[in-house]
Amino acid sequence: MLVDLCETVRPGVTFCDAVESMEGDGPSSGSCRKTGMLLACRSPYQLDRALCRVIGRSQQEILTLKAAEERGLCAGEEENLPIVGDELTVFPDFERPRTMSTDFLSKLPKPLRTVCRPLVGKFFTSRPQIDTARCVGCGKCAESCPAHTIKIEGGKARIDHSKCIRCYCCHEMCPIHAIGIRQNRLLKL
Ligand code: SF4
Ligand code: SF4
Repeated sequence: MLVDLCETVRPGVTFCDAVESMEGDGPSSGSCRKTGMLLACRSPYQLDRALCRVIGRSQQEILTLKAAEERGLCAGEEENLPIVGDELTVFPDFERPRTMSTDFLSKLPKPLRTVCRPLVGKFFTSRPQIDTARCVGCGKCAESCPAHTIKIEGGKARIDHSKCIRCYCCHEMCPIHAIGIRQNRLLKL
């Protein structure tokens, strides 16, 4: 969808404000890192590829870039468009969001995903998990849950996992980091 949007709008130039960046779990649970860069490029894909190098990630890990590459949008002239602005600094220890490692199926080759989906089921599914000792019952997770599957009972949040779509908004929005991610067993191997 994001690649579709980008191709529809076709921005003439794309800017990246990375003077200060958030690492770890966004949009509110991460930590601020001074990365000190303002960058621009005529190709949004080219700019994103450069940013992958900055945070020490492969472009295959970034789903929008992966989708753009599969559509042949990262090839040809665009490859050589200059990136202007500050000098690129690499932060190889830039912390990734934990939600990036929750999907076991996405690590399999495409043809295998469909076959394995029913087999993987609940057993290998990662899910949000509330640390009830930490939870203060503020309700921010319930407000941000698009599936309306969190209730505050007795001053603590409770998730009805049967309706959870595993978007991890609750994990990202909890101000006191009381929602962790219980990882599936294969991802721990
Ligand atoms: S946002 Fe965090 S502290 Fe607030 S109710 Fe949810 S789990 Fe508890
Ligand atoms: S992961 Fe998403 S759907 Fe599941 S409880 Fe959290 S906010 Fe709701």
